[in-house]
Amino acid sequence: MITRFAPSPTGPLHLGHAYSALLAHDMARAAGGRFLLRIDDLDASRSRPHWETQIYDDLAWLGLTWDNPPICQSQRFAHYTSMIVQLHGQTAAVYPCSCKRRDIQAAASAPQEGVAQFGPDGPIYPGTCRARAMQSRQPTDALRLNLDKLNGINPTTFKELGPLHAGSHSVSLAAMRTLVGDPVLARANMAASYNLAIVFDDAMDGVTHVIRGADLFEATHVQVFLQSLLGYETPLYLHHDLIRDEAGKRLAKRDDARAIATYRAEGKTPQDIRAMVGL
Ligand code: GLU
Repeated sequence: MITRFAPSPTGPLHLGHAYSALLAHDMARAAGGRFLLRIDDLDASRSRPHWETQIYDDLAWLGLTWDNPPICQSQRFAHYTSMIVQLHGQTAAVYPCSCKRRDIQAAASAPQEGVAQFGPDGPIYPGTCRARAMQSRQPTDALRLNLDKLNGINPTTFKELGPLHAGSHSVSLAAMRTLVGDPVLARANMAASYNLAIVFDDAMDGVTHVIRGADLFEATHVQVFLQSLLGYETPLYLHHDLIRDEAGKRLAKRDDARAIATYRAEGKTPQDIRAMVGL
């Protein structure tokens, strides 16, 4: 068993992160497996070295040990680019896209058929830039994958071990069309999208069990779809319940009140944190 914890160094770790990290760590240790730490600093505009330092510090304080020198996504940009080149070579389906979020929102709200085109994570991309050639990409363009050029690819499945969605889930081209539309492979001024980067990372690092919050369950469909196109093995998934505040709202990075660092400063112990997340 190889598990991983993959925080983004864009703010303090809070109780929800502690829960993910402890679960992934404890499962690997109980099975005699390996626990990896990965720093998801894909977005250079939001990542900060002091948050990365704080991550190491908080995790060590929690009593976690990891079996690798931490991996940073910022060291893998060339690999992500190669993956996109490989996908384009295989499918000729990658194209640059200059649509802004508000353009996509507007197009999805006023579709030809009169039905709003929204998936669980927002508007479905209407395919506006599909005819553009790769050579016309500007640094401010994203890259997307044209699903209509992938007709005939077989559906694939992934297995979910978490209690919220336990069982086997099918990922088909039809499902991709209703969930997200043409997936983003790279964002403007970035080497890759989150989905593409972590598909590479998890495969490269041999991760067998992806353990993380239930907010990423829908994204798993896109990730498994990309794994199957790239010929990577699909790991097992365990999406755990989100830790919420007293009002039932999920914790956010800016929610400093529940930052591990704040609890530490107040004199709480690692055992207190374990108890707070129900472990
Ligand atoms: N870096 C992502 C985050 O902090 C998590 C990625 C993952 O666990 O797949 O939300």
